Amino acid sequence: MALIVQKFGGSSVKDAKHVMNVAKIVTGTYSAGNDVVVVVSAQGNTTDDLVSKAKEINPTPSSREMDMLMAAGEQISIALLAMAIEKLGFPAISLLGWQAGFATNSVYSSARIKFVKPDRIRSEIGKKNIVIVAGFQGTNKYDDVTTLGRGGSDTSAVAIAAALRADRCQIFTDVDGIYTADPRKIPTARKLDEITYDEMLELATLGAQVLNNRSVEMAKKYGIELEVLSSYKGIPGTIVKEVTKMEKMLVRGVTKDTDVARITIMDVPDVPGIAFKVFSRLAAKKINVDIILQSVGRDGNKDIAFTINKSSKEAAIDALSNSFSELENSKINCDTNVAKVSVVGAGMESHPGTAAKMFEALYEIDVNIQMISTSEIKISVLIDLEDADRAVHAIHRAFLPEQ
Ligand code: ASP
Ligand code: MG
Repeated sequence: MALIVQKFGGSSVKDAKHVMNVAKIVTGTYSAGNDVVVVVSAQGNTTDDLVSKAKEINPTPSSREMDMLMAAGEQISIALLAMAIEKLGFPAISLLGWQAGFATNSVYSSARIKFVKPDRIRSEIGKKNIVIVAGFQGTNKYDDVTTLGRGGSDTSAVAIAAALRADRCQIFTDVDGIYTADPRKIPTARKLDEITYDEMLELATLGAQVLNNRSVEMAKKYGIELEVLSSYKGIPGTIVKEVTKMEKMLVRGVTKDTDVARITIMDVPDVPGIAFKVFSRLAAKKINVDIILQSVGRDGNKDIAFTINKSSKEAAIDALSNSFSELENSKINCDTNVAKVSVVGAGMESHPGTAAKMFEALYEIDVNIQMISTSEIKISVLIDLEDADRAVHAIHRAFLPEQ
């Protein structure tokens, strides 16, 4: 007998039929002799609908009241799922975040879990109940309702699994696992049996809709193995864990990120302190910088280029315009017609040829590389936006040829 946490996302409980499907999965696990704690999100687009309802009344509502509103979505889905399980003849009880012992800080709408005190959950398990917990919510020290940020139910599930020292934490969703590329775009993309936490975090642009980043960070911290699997197919999914079997797979995934802007500052004086001044001004505005490139100085001048999220471009240009005397004679320009394409894989660290192979794949399709950055498990290139899809195809073909 094991203690299993099962999490179901909004699309898996979107209507009565889907709720009954979840009830069957959960009661199947319970009938096999396991204790089961279920975490659910709000049904379908409920959370989005609640956000629109709020905006109709007040475009800038206080975040405390937003949390009060948004937390309502999960209250509906836990009650409905409990009823579905009752209907199948099994004992179930639904609990809101505070009843399940979720204590968070007070940052409304993106609260962090401080701890989970799972006494009530334990006592309900003791009574042989299937326990259904509202994801995405907790309470702060003022006993006010808080929410964990969009997609936060994954984190709720991992936190419960950690607090209960569960044997397994399964994240059920509408895809059947993590793939080497977006399977809707790359037909030869393969489902991975296993992936490391770090690879999963790097694949965020692929996996964003599949697993919330914060949940992966928390799973890594507490050593909770996650299984991402389909609510419909009844087949094994992808396991996310610390160390994976070393398959002969150098690269686990190829990703494309189009939410990128490149800022170039041309003709800055080639003297000490410039990079410090530029990037400290960006940091002061909380702008996250990704790839940085500085040219070798010539005739006393150099260029600095870096990438940021598209949404930060105005703030970045603003932070640098007229900010310090050394930039007086430089030109700042911004290009949003770019994309970042990356290969990710823990195995590449010890394989010298990976970068060359990636660049060769790009050369073969005549794609020019504007910037390059590398880490132990990732190589990224910045290229023209219009080349991005072709590039992903070519790189995927080079590293993960059809089997
Ligand atoms: N219902 C919340 C949202 O839509 C939390 C979640 O789905 O994980 O963001
Ligand atoms: Mg969701």
